[in-house]
Amino acid sequence: MADIIQLLPDNIANQIAAGEVIQRPASAVKELLENAVDAGATEIKLIVTDAGKNLIQVIDNGKGMSETDARMAFERHATSKIKVIDDLFHIKTMGFRGEALASIAAVAQVELKTRRADDELGTFIEIENSTVVKQEPCAFGVGTSISMKNLFFNVPARRNFLKTNASELRHIIDEFIRVAMSFPHIFFSLTSNGQDVFHLEKGNIKQRVTQILGSSYNAKLVNVKEDTDYMNIYGFVGKPDTAKKTRGDQYFFVNNRYIRSNYLNHAVTNSFDNLLPKDSYPSYVLFIDLDPSQIDINVHPTKQEIKFEDEKIIYAFIQSAVKHALAQFSIAPSLDFSLNAEIQQLDAVNKPFSQDHQRSASSSNLFQSFTEKHQAHKIEPNEKSELRHWKEFFVSKDETPAQTNIELGTDLLPELNKTIASPFDSNEYSCLQINNSYIVSTFRSGFILVHQQLAHERVLYERYSKMVHHKQVAVQKILFPITLELAVADAILLEDLLPEIVQLGFEIEHFGNNTFIIQGTPADIKQGNEKHSIELLLEQFKHFSSEMKFSKREKLIRCMARQQSIKAGQSLGEEEMKTLVVDLFECNTPNVSPAGNPTYIEYKKDYIERMFER
Ligand code: ADP
Ligand code: MG
Repeated sequence: MADIIQLLPDNIANQIAAGEVIQRPASAVKELLENAVDAGATEIKLIVTDAGKNLIQVIDNGKGMSETDARMAFERHATSKIKVIDDLFHIKTMGFRGEALASIAAVAQVELKTRRADDELGTFIEIENSTVVKQEPCAFGVGTSISMKNLFFNVPARRNFLKTNASELRHIIDEFIRVAMSFPHIFFSLTSNGQDVFHLEKGNIKQRVTQILGSSYNAKLVNVKEDTDYMNIYGFVGKPDTAKKTRGDQYFFVNNRYIRSNYLNHAVTNSFDNLLPKDSYPSYVLFIDLDPSQIDINVHPTKQEIKFEDEKIIYAFIQSAVKHALAQFSIAPSLDFSLNAEIQQLDAVNKPFSQDHQRSASSSNLFQSFTEKHQAHKIEPNEKSELRHWKEFFVSKDETPAQTNIELGTDLLPELNKTIASPFDSNEYSCLQINNSYIVSTFRSGFILVHQQLAHERVLYERYSKMVHHKQVAVQKILFPITLELAVADAILLEDLLPEIVQLGFEIEHFGNNTFIIQGTPADIKQGNEKHSIELLLEQFKHFSSEMKFSKREKLIRCMARQQSIKAGQSLGEEEMKTLVVDLFECNTPNVSPAGNPTYIEYKKDYIERMFER
């Protein structure tokens, strides 16, 4: 029998490798931007059309490539960034594996133009399917331009797998932001279908952060900065009122590389203690710099996860630095600075990391905060504390009927009424509000306990659905139109949702770039609340967006119902309660909220009697 094993031809091997590195347009964007950064560029422009499916082009003014290097760059394992294995542990560049360009050339049609400052002429190369189809000298400014066209043109299965343009563009923006955020001294721009999406002038980190996240962050950032021999942390955490219902604005960079880490995220969230409302996430942009030998970035195909030599120390440093920052800005005057006991006992925390550094380290701020245990940054609680202000967040805290049941004790668990019936024996029924959250109402011969927020969500949900369905939306015009300035990603989302939002009764127009004009709102939105209402809608929509089963319209209706509902904590008059209960039982499905929680619990007469052992 003949031997059967063969070496794969280059183009196939590259295509297979590309599967790991280039999963969607955004992955190519990341690689190309990082290459431009590595090339020392001070200006980097990204141009995409059709969310990168049609064209992704990155133009930089970096050091360029020689004719031979330009050709070599597309070979697999071709890199100028490491030479010996030891280099792998001292990486200062974003790339080092030499597989990005080879992968890109395997799954797209690529054109490269490049010139070094000392060369008179530049090089033009055209590649398709990993094969050079054209190479010639060309006139070009100093730097490099790489365009990749028709991504996955030769891998239809991949191409069909791509999401809508809106969704792919959002991924591209995410990657763009992650690179642009960590290099504020580099100019970055992003143009999508000829439209300017970002134009980020060079500046400092704070300027870059507010350019990207929106100027509303300007007064809401708390500076974090601690330098030690082991590592430096700097950046910002958002004050508690920037906390979001989604993990939107959370950025960790280790040696300028964006990374995901639930563990480190936990460190930050924990530092906020109970300053944050339940189910919300703090905003932060934090940079950690440490000796590259302390981390392994070679554990993930797109390097978004890394391994730390000692994760626990990093955790402790982050927590201490963030707590310190929050305390200094008297956002959390009475915070307890004691470290988690387990971490406190770590050698690395109690002792400096090496004898050499002992003296300098022990004089550093951060080290003292570890050794002097609870004392380091303790600030006495003070009357003028902003803390009271944060209380507002806790008021509307949802308490679900499930929790109520637990309080009742499981053996007392009342039976949930799943039937729809004419509820009231007569019009002579009465309502009583309890804890500003629940309504007790007579119901047939017994009573029901209504969850006011969930019940109202049901009522509004059916009302909005009907209105949208019958196109009978009541719009109230605003006397003086309101302008709404959004962060770029939000503006793109709003533009995408505009047709559906209009169906709900908003009158909004796109007014160029990230600005919108609100001219009317659905009839039941309070005046003065228009802006907030849209912002909340976007926020909730993002929160919802992983729920694939709903259409955009359905999601928006649900968000609106949630947003406009009477919240727990709101006191209601007798008439309001009666209207709510009557409205609830006029619904098609009164017994559950749109999200599927029970809206009320019925206590039937014979059940109540039994409880009294009669
Ligand atoms: P890596 O970045 O891991 O080295 P790539 O495949 O991304 O691998 O790039 C291969 C090589 O091509 C790089 O090491 C670099 O020398 C060169 N290169 C890529 N992009 C640029 C650019 N924009 N400017 C200058 N050189 C570049
Ligand atoms: Mg690279």
